Amino acid sequence: MRHLVPFSCNVPWSLNCTTAGVLGLSDMSDVLAEYGRRVVNRRVVALLLLPFFWPSLATGGNFKSRYYIIETNLSPERDAVVGEVMDAAGKAYSTMFRGFRGSVRRKLRVRVSATKEGYLAAYARFCGTPNKNARGIYCGTDQTVYTYDGDGVERVLKHECLHQFVDHVVGGRLPIWTNEGLAEYFEESTLDKRSGQLRLGRVPAWRLKALRKAKKKGTWMPVSRLLAIGGREWSDNVRRGSSNAQYGQAWLLCHFLIHGDGGAYTKLFDRYLGLLDESVGGEAAFKRVFGGDLAPLESKLGAYLGSLKAKGGG
Ligand SMILES: [Zn+2]
Repeated sequence: MRHLVPFSCNVPWSLNCTTAGVLGLSDMSDVLAEYGRRVVNRRVVALLLLPFFWPSLATGGNFKSRYYIIETNLSPERDAVVGEVMDAAGKAYSTMFRGFRGSVRRKLRVRVSATKEGYLAAYARFCGTPNKNARGIYCGTDQTVYTYDGDGVERVLKHECLHQFVDHVVGGRLPIWTNEGLAEYFEESTLDKRSGQLRLGRVPAWRLKALRKAKKKGTWMPVSRLLAIGGREWSDNVRRGSSNAQYGQAWLLCHFLIHGDGGAYTKLFDRYLGLLDESVGGEAAFKRVFGGDLAPLESKLGAYLGSLKAKGGG
């Protein structure tokens, strides 16, 4: 059984909360009073104090959206645009991981610099040596997402903030293919400005083309191989510049399990995520839900790739 977290306005990121939403930092005294009898670990205390000691990006400030503190040196108009996308993403993450044992009890921090140089400097200052080729990074040390404005910034935020959310709610219990596949899945979403919600499930033509080419050329990875890739191997492939296949196939498998066969696997995928939340290992959880023989799934995934049509532009 998955442990269900009761959703109410006492729980920040609550989807059912109809009042102020997430408690702001100015409300932290209330949070601490409310949860005062609970054990507050050192990391949480440190995180609560950090905003008071960390300066904002030069000439910038903190823009507080419903779910995020966005530290920027962008214009107020850009802050608002970024905040709108981030809140839609935050709501979508909460929906997917609803009922998990972990929860987010504060606004999450994102640093968006106006320039690449500013982003690299901010990362180096607060987190360590950045990968200069990365368009954005989630830093687990300070649980902050770093990126810079310009083309693709919203995609990067939707991707990296999924990692940030997962780190809070599921921790390291999500296998790398699931974590990255879902991050790619959210990255491909678009914002419906009218409803303020993300439209999920977009299928870009370039992804289909690349995946079909891999299938044809024999560079396709069997599902069993994808499931077995560990974090270190994944990172090594990224460093070597040979990570396109793993990202693409992780995206496709997540897309299939969420949308494939008219949603036939949606509940199973949810069950799989639930087992991970219960600390069942990745491959064991997958086997328990989808069976030990992956050949039927492999075949259905191949057929899905063959029949999938690009939708939503791109
Ligand atoms: Zn990622």
